[in-house]
Amino acid sequence: VEAQISTIAGAAGKTDFVVIVLRDVTQRQRVEQMRVDFVANASHELRTPLASLLGFVETLQGPARNDAAAREKFLDIMRAQANRMSRLIDDLLSLSRIELNAHVRPDKPIDLNIVVGHVADTLAPLAEDRGVALTIDKRLPALEVLGERDELIRVFENLVENAIKYGASGGKVEITLESQPRARGKGAEAVVTVRDYGPGIEAEHVPRLTERFYRVDVAKSREKGGTGLGLAIVKHIVARHRGRLVIESVPGEGAAFSVRIDQLG
Ligand code: ADP
Repeated sequence: VEAQISTIAGAAGKTDFVVIVLRDVTQRQRVEQMRVDFVANASHELRTPLASLLGFVETLQGPARNDAAAREKFLDIMRAQANRMSRLIDDLLSLSRIELNAHVRPDKPIDLNIVVGHVADTLAPLAEDRGVALTIDKRLPALEVLGERDELIRVFENLVENAIKYGASGGKVEITLESQPRARGKGAEAVVTVRDYGPGIEAEHVPRLTERFYRVDVAKSREKGGTGLGLAIVKHIVARHRGRLVIESVPGEGAAFSVRIDQLG
């Protein structure tokens, strides 16, 4: 606790009032610690591919100078590492842009049916590569919310891409769009659920999945081209839409990620 004491002088220099302001600084310290951790993590994540790139440059200038086969192989790896750095920087920039706008409520009517249809088209080739059957179940002709189209596309791209990547290869990924009455109060919520039938997630990890750089299996995430920022971005965008992200998983049976946002009308 931080205390600030001021005195207010009365007549003839006498102290009439003493004002004591007590402030709980634990929350501020926690935020500061998170910021420090975030910078340290981000630097580490960027340094890893950079160190690998530098290592290959040295090998190419030295021992592998005249080895054409090695050169081709190394250049492929270098390209992959550079792409990874580029994805990481894009995600970091997205996060800071969304945070900057956190207090601005998106205000355009958006039909989630159209957004999800667009995402499914974009990810159809990835699903096909992994032998995953991607299905969409639209329960209504339109499902409108107030939103930012590009951000909502980002949300469902991340969720569907994760379901394809971490779900069972050769399995299925189902997207359901429906309207449900709000738990409290009037009106309805638009609910979009992305479900896979892969290994799922152990309960202890579930609450931490939306932390920046949190991954259940770092090696697996890297191998699949992940940055560890996808779900953090999803959480921030959903929060800006005054919505909720609900994660449910039964280990061994699969995972379901639901986005709930107030429905228009
Ligand atoms: P990444 O770039 O690692 O995919 P995300 O923030 O998108 O980062 O996801 C964080 C972690 O959550 C992943 O590394 C993975 O361990 C876990 N995860 C996300 N989606 C799923 C899923 N559908 N099934 C199992 N694990 C998942």
